[in-house]
Amino acid sequence: MKRSDLILDLQAAIGRSWVLHAPEDLLVYEYDGTIDRGLPEAVVLPEDAKGVATAVRIARKHHVPVTARGAGTGLSGGAIPCEGGVVIVTTRMNRIVELDSENRIAIVEPGVINLDISRAAAPHGLYYAPDPSSQKACSIGGNVAENAGGPHCLRYGTTTNHVLGLEIVTADGQVLWLGGKTADTPGYDLTGVIVGSEGTLAIVTKVIVRLLHKPEATITLLGIFDAVTQASRAVSAIIGKGMVPAALEMMDKNTMDAVEPFVHAGYPPDAGAVLLIEVEGLKEDAQEQADAVASICRELEAREIRIGLSQEDRDRLWAGRKGALGALGRL
Ligand SMILES: Cc1cc2nc3c(=O)[nH]c(=O)nc-3n(C[C@H](O)[C@H](O)[C@H](O)COP(=O)(O)OP(=O)(O)OC[C@H]3O[C@@H](n4cnc5c(N)ncnc54)[C@H](O)[C@@H]3O)c2cc1C
Repeated sequence: MKRSDLILDLQAAIGRSWVLHAPEDLLVYEYDGTIDRGLPEAVVLPEDAKGVATAVRIARKHHVPVTARGAGTGLSGGAIPCEGGVVIVTTRMNRIVELDSENRIAIVEPGVINLDISRAAAPHGLYYAPDPSSQKACSIGGNVAENAGGPHCLRYGTTTNHVLGLEIVTADGQVLWLGGKTADTPGYDLTGVIVGSEGTLAIVTKVIVRLLHKPEATITLLGIFDAVTQASRAVSAIIGKGMVPAALEMMDKNTMDAVEPFVHAGYPPDAGAVLLIEVEGLKEDAQEQADAVASICRELEAREIRIGLSQEDRDRLWAGRKGALGALGRL
């Protein structure tokens, strides 16, 4: 069948405005966060699962592949249509369908931006834990496909630990629900199969996520060391004491050199490595953990320890780490 027939079928089903096929429009969808390229034959932006299923069935009828796409920040090339076909973009599917604060779950569409879930949950004292550094831009559908994690996955795990159920569209255009609103639903863990499958098994059209209570107190420490070896010893010592901080991240000198002119996080230019350590819990408990971590770092020759208690101070300490990948991309 001809490309023009594919486009006409998609336009008739999804609406002319939501089917892109002009060369200048398609160019925008030929890449993601990686360096590869691949031009689609058409791009569709459905508004719901029914639209996704229809687009999948039309592509199937025309024997062309489909590629799901969220925000296009992926670093494994999964959103690139390397064999052409139809790119199905979820940016219009960006509604938070339900936020059940009592049961600490939210049902969201795949195009919802990661950070927007925590923003919506914040008035209820809740948040969504997986926090990839791209969380201001990446979509929850992309997070599910990539099993995304972030600095806090040391303690809280990755996306798979926070997804209870999924609505998906299969390769033959069926809409199915997997899992549910509770953990450990009976039967095979098909939700777990889809999480991390990089868009190869199904297109996710709704996600049921688990929300966590915000801790009473959070303290961020920045340990500044002369060398990576000292910082690494501090990591081993902290874990060796049986502590599991909420986050424990290291940056070496090369990363800091890239980050500093970009983010101005205030890292000393002559430091060999910094450790970002976050502890949380009840107020007294968090303080106790922070004191223990600080004393380990001092014993292992940290030359300085900065402590962030307020949200503003903590954001400043984290700014460098969160901007690290973007900063390295400029080199
Ligand atoms: C600056 C920067 C920092 C980053 N930091 C991190 C980090 O800390 N941790 C981390 O894990 N990743 C990180 N990433 C990578 C990326 O942001 C994540 O993989 C994110 O989950 C991708 O989401 P996306 O919406 O951009 O997905 P896209 O790039 O659009 O797609 C990624 C994959 O998901 C599939 N997909 C998208 N939507 C769906 C859907 N609805 N159903 C099925 N499959 C779908 C696509 O086909 C593709 O295979 C970073 C990227 C950048 C650019």
